[in-house]
Amino acid sequence: MTSSADKSSPSPTSTSRVVTSLQNDTVKLVRSLEMRKARRETNLFAAEGASLLMTAREQGWTPKILVHGPGSGDNAVSRGLIGWAERAGADCLDVSSAVLAKIAAKDNPQSLIGVFEQRWAALPEPTSAMKPSPWVVLESIRDPGNLGTILRTADAAGAAGVLLLGQTCDPFAHEAVRASMGSLFAVPIARIDEAAFLSLAARWPGAVVGTHLEGRQDFRAANYAAPALLVMGTEGEGLSPSAAAACRTLVRIPMAGKLDSLNLAVATALMLYEIQRATLKL
Ligand code: SAM
Repeated sequence: MTSSADKSSPSPTSTSRVVTSLQNDTVKLVRSLEMRKARRETNLFAAEGASLLMTAREQGWTPKILVHGPGSGDNAVSRGLIGWAERAGADCLDVSSAVLAKIAAKDNPQSLIGVFEQRWAALPEPTSAMKPSPWVVLESIRDPGNLGTILRTADAAGAAGVLLLGQTCDPFAHEAVRASMGSLFAVPIARIDEAAFLSLAARWPGAVVGTHLEGRQDFRAANYAAPALLVMGTEGEGLSPSAAAACRTLVRIPMAGKLDSLNLAVATALMLYEIQRATLKL
């Protein structure tokens, strides 16, 4: 991964290699992870900032690559993260400001960027021995900001995991990773196609609840037998007819005002907290 344009000697205090060239192969690889195609081909993704990296560490992930910019060794948290990555055998790059500026996000750039292997969870096995925590199904979700926010909420509300139904945006996109605030490292995420979803819903041992603008039941009055399978529709068209038909209950969140629907992430948060009302306590 090293180009001849690098200064490859490690700094005296770490095993990181100093990189000042934008032509460095690893720098090019990290930059390319902005694109979904590159993430798909490499099975990698980037997470930026000490806070996300600390969550990754707490959740037992280890980076393949860690990029750190000037000054990142000046505080104890960043030094700890660099040491963690080096001990884990990550390829650690001590980069110049110019290189960091090309890799980091344009708004609110951070001086630490970790690159990780993507992890996809197995589909849950619907049995009577399942844990009671709810699972969330997101049908054809389009907006990575919504997806990241839902991962963060699923984590906070104690959901067991998130199933991405059909063609969806990428949970490993920069915007999703950032909006998740690190919950992406904690919440299992699986992909599911329509046939597998229909089969799963039919065999699910708890409530299978869809959210729909034509739902007859108030979401605060429904029965959420554990484990609930909560099914959310896409931002544009809402739940597809086949996904709606697979749900045993369709609920609606009442709305005043002129708009017909809530933002998907807000609706998911209201639902998860209602489902977890008896479980989540201060
Ligand atoms: N035009 C879409 C429709 O007809 O369903 C609105 C989609 S809404 C932005 C995205 C998703 O959020 C919906 O499919 C549903 O899952 C959920 N949602 C939003 N507002 C809701 C409400 N008031 N009641 C139930 N679900 C809602």
